[in-house]
Order: sequence, then structure tokens, then C-alpha cells
Amino acid sequence: MSCAFDLTHYGELLDAAKAGGYRFATFEAEPQPGDVLLRHDVDLSLEAALELGRLERDAGVRATYFLMTESVFYNLDSALGRETLGELRGLGHAVGLHGVYPRASHDERFDAVLAWHNPDAEYVHEPVNGFVNVMQPPWFTKGKYRSDSNQHWREGCPHEELRAGTFEWLQLLTHPEIWVFDGDTMGETMRAMLEEKRGEWLEQLANDRIDLL
Ligand SMILES: [Zn+2]
Ligand SMILES: [Zn+2]
Repeated sequence: MSCAFDLTHYGELLDAAKAGGYRFATFEAEPQPGDVLLRHDVDLSLEAALELGRLERDAGVRATYFLMTESVFYNLDSALGRETLGELRGLGHAVGLHGVYPRASHDERFDAVLAWHNPDAEYVHEPVNGFVNVMQPPWFTKGKYRSDSNQHWREGCPHEELRAGTFEWLQLLTHPEIWVFDGDTMGETMRAMLEEKRGEWLEQLANDRIDLL
């Protein structure tokens, strides 16, 4: 099995967790033995979040999607943003706030669960008033956390350990863009995403009555 960052191996990761006897849990309760807390920080692309969310629903898997209200790359108040929120909920997923420190204002779009975007060490594990911070203990526990940041598993792809049931429980953070767009490196994947966005933006410009001739 090649540990490619693509949707095929993403499906294999989910299958491995099922084969290992894990259940997919959210951050509402403290982690229990046998839980996989599947977390997605949506940094760059609502389209990628939706694609992954649909794949997971088809696989019978529930995840928590963390969406930004102040992203440079997407607008949660746009039509697509509202549709994405509604569809992710409709697919059965939980939705939390992907906040930019120190702003953590709650609104009805989000469950009371927060993941900071690009957090610094000083506050990453600190409790946040009115929220579960996904990086505060016990939701974050050393040895029970894996992340695909920048298309790199610092401690290795977890598929074998999931299949073997090695983790007592696991918080698994993946970024949808990394899996949905093709590329052997983060740079290639980002360029593939930008190609896609270019087409979408050209379409949006036409919709916005911009003369593209
Ligand atoms: Zn793997
Ligand atoms: Zn982020």
C-alpha cells in the first residue's frame, strides 16, 4: 500500500480504522478507548471540504469540520459558504470554529468546539472560554494525535497502527485540500488547487457580469 495523499489512500485510512475496531467520535465528550476523533481544519477550500465530507458519508464516517470566519481564501458568508455549512450538517458531520487567535466569538453556525489556525505554543493547549479547545487535554494527548500538516506525517502515516488497533484512541487531523487535489508534494498540490480555483474564479467573474473578452 502506498501512503499517497490522495482519496484512494484516504479511503484506505478510514477502512483501516474500521478494521481496527475504532468508532468515529466527535469532540462533544472526552475521548474514550476505541475512539477516532476525525478532525478537518478547512484552511483553503470549501469545495475540498465538501468532497471529503461526501466521501466520508458514503463510508459511514462522521467527522468534525473546522471552518474559518476570517479566511483569506474563502468566504463563509457567501452562497457557497452557507451551502457548505448546510451540506456538511446534512451529511451528518459536526462543525466547529477554526479560529484566528485570540478571536473566539461563538455563533449558531458552530458547535462549541474550536481549533486555532496555525497556533503558537503559548496558547495552543490552553482552555478557551465557552469552547472545547481540541488541543487541550484530554482531547489532545501526546502519542494519541496525528496530523498531515504540509503533506507530511511527522510520526508516519497511521494506517498500519489503526488497522492493528495500536492506539488506545486517536485524534486524527487531516486537511481536505491535501487529499482532494493531486500532487506528490505540498507545492504541487497547492498548484493543482490554484488551477482549479482559477477556473472557478473565471466563472465567478462571468457571473459577476465582468466582460472577459
Ligand atoms: Zn498509509
Ligand atoms: Zn488552519
